[in-house]
Amino acid sequence: MINFNVPPVTGKEVEYMKQAIENQKICGDGPFTVKCNEWIEDNTHTAKCLLTTSCTHATEMAALLADIKEGDEVIMPSYTFVSTANAFVLRGARVVFVDIRPDTMNIDENLIEDAVTGRTRAIAPVHYAGVGCEMDAIMDIARRHGLMVIEDAAQGIMAYYKGKALGTFGDYGCFSFHETKNLSMGEGGALLIRDEKNVEAAEIIREKGTDRSKYYRGQVDKYRWQNYGSSYLPSELNAAYLYAQLELADEITKIRLARWEQYKELLTPLAEEGKIELPYIPEHCTHNGHMFYIKTKDAGERGELISYLKQKEILSVSHYVPLHSAPAGMKFGRFNGEDKYTTKESERILRLPMFYKLTEDEVEYIAGCVKEFYNR
Ligand SMILES: *Cc1c(COP(=O)(O)O)cnc(C)c1O
Repeated sequence: MINFNVPPVTGKEVEYMKQAIENQKICGDGPFTVKCNEWIEDNTHTAKCLLTTSCTHATEMAALLADIKEGDEVIMPSYTFVSTANAFVLRGARVVFVDIRPDTMNIDENLIEDAVTGRTRAIAPVHYAGVGCEMDAIMDIARRHGLMVIEDAAQGIMAYYKGKALGTFGDYGCFSFHETKNLSMGEGGALLIRDEKNVEAAEIIREKGTDRSKYYRGQVDKYRWQNYGSSYLPSELNAAYLYAQLELADEITKIRLARWEQYKELLTPLAEEGKIELPYIPEHCTHNGHMFYIKTKDAGERGELISYLKQKEILSVSHYVPLHSAPAGMKFGRFNGEDKYTTKESERILRLPMFYKLTEDEVEYIAGCVKEFYNR
């Protein structure tokens, strides 16, 4: 059976976790956490990175830092994971969904401004499949209307928009290191902070509302309760696992991109015959091979293809059910404008296996089976 995802393992994880145990430091913010933060800062050129327990938690931190309150509105695509919305709904905000572009499945930047009201506080773009949203346009709208930008870059590590790392455009950017992501620590994430002035508040919220981070650095002699906060720091064991992956981030990304290109090449004939559609990467976006998907004619054909591939021992999966049509989406949000593509495109998308250890032979076999299905 070819799984849809296999969590990445590079070889050094256990050694580093063992080191963390020998360091007698397995709680948060030990040497491995510091190394991971620094690695991400150096490689994304953000002012500050704080490792978190998940991308969900990084987004919750961003919502707290942005001081999102009851009645505020946050604009986002409906085609996203629940965490993008939950973070703001937990603060009492209403979610305003905007349609996606069918080519990248990202929020349509041209529809954002129409959704802005007097209550709008933030825009939360989601970089689907590690392909950048149109950040120039989005940042321009945010500046003109005085809005915060919180990027859901859960799938976006090692990916760039016009040469700049995803997650570093907005006030805050959120990465995920869940086992389904390119680089992993089991469960985990990171909050990227663009402006130095927001770092101290973030450290306090992450450390149960205390200035313990300063205490650890020897900047204060006692730590005290400074503000509301929670426990958003991951254990050193998870950070040790992640560090082994960060060290090989280039290699992991290179292999994923090679498999992605191979899928694309093998499936291009089917696309040229008009039987399927392939992902589109804008010229100015450098993606990270997070996901390879095809689009079938409709939901019915997708279901048949999933079953067909399953018989061939291949696991392929659909993706998000649009949030605006889900029970909580109806309760906490509204769709602004017409749902021209969100529902329709979400019903056509089929993700094929993509992971670090996926082999060239496997990609060839999978693409061959997809072709067989269409040429039966
Ligand atoms: C994976 C993912 C998340 C959640 O990440 P966790 O680390 O599991 O909390 C949020 N948004 C998107 C777009 C994701 O793909």
